[in-house]
Amino acid sequence: MGNTEPARVAAESQFPIIGNLRGEDFQSLESPVSRRAKFMPDFFPAAAARDWNDWRWQIRNRIRDRDGLERIFVLSDDERAALDRIGGRMPIGITPYYASLISRDDPGDPLRRTKIPVAAELIQSPGEYSDPLGEDSHNPVPGLVHTYPDKVLFLATDFCATYCRYCMRSRLVGKGTLLPNIAMWERALEYIRTHCEVRDVLISGGDPLIMADDRIEWLLQRLRAIPHVEFLRIGTKVPAVLPQRITPALVTMLKEFHPLFMSLHFVHPSELTPECSRACERLADAGIPLGGQMVLLKGVNDDAAVMKRLCTGLLKIRVKPYYLHQCDAIAGSQHFRTKISDGLEIIRALHGHTTGYAVPHFMVDAPGGGGKVPLSPDYRAGRAGDDQLFANYAGEVYRYRDPGF
Ligand SMILES: *Cc1c(COP(=O)(O)O)cnc(C)c1O
Ligand code: SF4
Repeated sequence: MGNTEPARVAAESQFPIIGNLRGEDFQSLESPVSRRAKFMPDFFPAAAARDWNDWRWQIRNRIRDRDGLERIFVLSDDERAALDRIGGRMPIGITPYYASLISRDDPGDPLRRTKIPVAAELIQSPGEYSDPLGEDSHNPVPGLVHTYPDKVLFLATDFCATYCRYCMRSRLVGKGTLLPNIAMWERALEYIRTHCEVRDVLISGGDPLIMADDRIEWLLQRLRAIPHVEFLRIGTKVPAVLPQRITPALVTMLKEFHPLFMSLHFVHPSELTPECSRACERLADAGIPLGGQMVLLKGVNDDAAVMKRLCTGLLKIRVKPYYLHQCDAIAGSQHFRTKISDGLEIIRALHGHTTGYAVPHFMVDAPGGGGKVPLSPDYRAGRAGDDQLFANYAGEVYRYRDPGF
């Protein structure tokens, strides 16, 4: 710190301008090149490149309702029916940047399924609840979830840059019930100060990186001042949906609070754009270890080849795939949920077939507040006398002499 070259920082603060991206910049993109290059002039003709690269402009210009969607997308009957009846459920919010990654006329587009509601979202199936993880019953004070012995989840805000239709906190997000509020934060901080067993604070929401730098700094300073808090984490989807937010100023502030880790939420390799890559590079260069959190979603990423592209693509931008979450049983999630065995098969298709760093843990969050449970494929293939038999990634059976038998 202190010796950053101002000229370099200033140059880096400009994200690539969408209309000016060079051909090779698009090579990592899965979405058609022409769609993105034409998006800004077609739908935001009055915007300058400076606007597009400004995260606050992106937030102000989010697509929030049916009219906004229809200006860009050719909506299906199913999507229209959902929008007509959505009422006070989870709001719609899509940054122009993220909208530029979504197919305009294909309702089956993976990213589109996660952002534009369909009628199935309005149906509550058996076993689905608005708060499937029982978080509201592990709330010692508002905005704090204490489920495990030595770690807490700090819900700093309920605001997100984009709203994901499968969100496990859809009961909260975008409803204004958890506005970043100093009085509420003070109570949560007091709880952490008086609970010496809390070693690890995961700041999430909502999306904490939607708050202004000084708000985030205020919170990090107070958490860092608590002697028994060893480990800080921020959970965010910002690098995927609003990479413009990862400014040099933000990163310079964040790196004062090490050890600080980040969990970044991704669902599909088309999110790994040059802009996203640059945002992750900036965070990694500031010494922030990056973990990837994915949610397994039907019709989005429940395919071993797609998941492999996502996980190996994350490694290329210095994000270690950490968790692959089974989709929680929130109300209206049936159309997103896969069988647990599908997740295990995806892990099986990754392990050994690609670098171990690309293989996440597959987690099921126990309904009712039991916490996350890791599930893994069972490679054991019985015993033969003292030998444990097991199959390797290619299905060949090997034996190991197990001491003590
Ligand atoms: C996921 C979660 C955490 C963090 O869990 P890790 O396994 O350490 O990543 C903490 N608290 C709650 C309530 C959680 O759901
Ligand atoms: S960004 Fe995270 S908290 Fe916000 S809607 Fe998506 S999944 Fe939920």
